[in-house]
Amino acid sequence: MDATVDEPGTLRLSPKQMRSILDCYRVTSGKGFRLKNYDPPADTAGHLLPRAHANALLAHGVERLAELQEKLYAQDRWAMLCVFQAMDAAGKDGTIKHVMSGVNPQGVQVTSFKVPGPEVLAHDFLWRAILALPERGRIGIFNRSHYEDVLVVRVHPDILAKQRLPRELLGKKLWEQRMDSIAAFERHLARQGTVVLKFFLNVSKAEQKRRFLERLEEKDKHWKFSSNDLAERAFWDDYQRVYQEAIAATAAPHAPWFVVPADNKWFTRLIVVGAIIEALEALDLRIAAPTEAEEAALAAARRKLESEA
Ligand code: AMP
Ligand code: MG
Repeated sequence: MDATVDEPGTLRLSPKQMRSILDCYRVTSGKGFRLKNYDPPADTAGHLLPRAHANALLAHGVERLAELQEKLYAQDRWAMLCVFQAMDAAGKDGTIKHVMSGVNPQGVQVTSFKVPGPEVLAHDFLWRAILALPERGRIGIFNRSHYEDVLVVRVHPDILAKQRLPRELLGKKLWEQRMDSIAAFERHLARQGTVVLKFFLNVSKAEQKRRFLERLEEKDKHWKFSSNDLAERAFWDDYQRVYQEAIAATAAPHAPWFVVPADNKWFTRLIVVGAIIEALEALDLRIAAPTEAEEAALAAARRKLESEA
């Protein structure tokens, strides 16, 4: 299956070619799921997506996404939710910035889930995710998400204490129950017309070190580094374990995970844009033809405008 180069410097992938690349990273069932089977994070699908064509492919993808998003907005039936989860420095922010760079800002809403404040802590853990859900016609981006409540909170039990759950509910099954709640929530969204896609940007520990050092060495990247990042790095193995469990418990055909190799930023971006395009194309977005009454109203408006002095 070779990708075609139709003019000098322009490589195009057919939907079928893209699908078979995406299939390498798509998880739709938790059965037997192991994160290590998705190594190495430096993977770039070999010759199928040559680096030399990455920029042109991404530009093409960004353009296609903009067209599809406009149709999504005009049709106003479906919504899309893209969840981004990853270890620090895996490239969430850059991926969101590049992939969404062509899209009309009115059609996208990005929400960053930070350390919760008192209002969030006074509610159940899905509350703030629900408040941030995209309307029909829009693409919602979660930069971190409701998953933090089965990731960072699981790795650091002291955070759980701040959530003030009644003691009787803090049983051994708590995490399993939370992951169940997430799976049910996403199934509900899918049934109500929100297309759910989830991306785990799979960066290696070595590449994270390299990116942290780069942030420390370059003055204009200092702002990206927080000393907390280093503290979290020390919990690397714990995070891998809880990520694996969370992905396994919530992967479904209607809410797939993509375990995206993240050591090469250009590749991460191509996979993410490809997955979003594929999901939107599957919707067969159509702008409804006007009804007879609407046509008559349009004709009347035209006549009125034309007859203006
Ligand atoms: P960043 O994504 O680098 O801006 O950092 C946001 C921080 O907020 C990360 O360290 C997250 O782990 C943390 N965070 C997000 N959601 C929660 C949560 N529900 N409980 C505790 N910490 C959270
Ligand atoms: Mg950070």
